[in-house]
Amino acid sequence: MSETTLVLIKPGGVDRNLIGEITRRIEARNLKVVGLKLFRAPRETVETHYEEHRGKGFFEPVVAYLTSGPVVAMAVRGTNAVRAVRTMMGATNPVDANPGTIRGDFALTIDDNLTHSSADPEAAERELALWFSEGLPF
Ligand code: ATP
Ligand code: MG
Repeated sequence: MSETTLVLIKPGGVDRNLIGEITRRIEARNLKVVGLKLFRAPRETVETHYEEHRGKGFFEPVVAYLTSGPVVAMAVRGTNAVRAVRTMMGATNPVDANPGTIRGDFALTIDDNLTHSSADPEAAERELALWFSEGLPF
């Protein structure tokens, strides 16, 4: 079933010049980029995005990280896109991420794990509405 998911390239990924590599892998998988922007995310957007983690010890650091520089927000569409993209990103903690995944190939620590992708279709819908409130071009 065709799904649309949200991918964020976090400031560390932008700083490491990985926009092209990450996007290349997504497109090579035959997933379509249907929304794309590079910008500095407002703190409010990031806090809403990570609302489920509010109160946890890493909430403030992760919000600080996401607002520390420009991010790429990308809407990605294709068959089983939500799960396919999650698997491509690898485990949240890069030391547990398999080689061949983005985190397994390019990241080492959980506080700089380079990307976000929606966990399930409900999260994808909520996150796309948050990060692309202006709507998608197609
Ligand atoms: P993301 O939501 O960013 O795609 P995820 O769904 O794999 O990652 P979550 O559990 O939603 O993981 O955690 C959100 C983010 O918070 C992680 O990507 C990571 O940057 C940070 N984080 C999560 N757990 C920890 C932790 N124990 N210590 C430090 N940072 C953490
Ligand atoms: Mg998450």
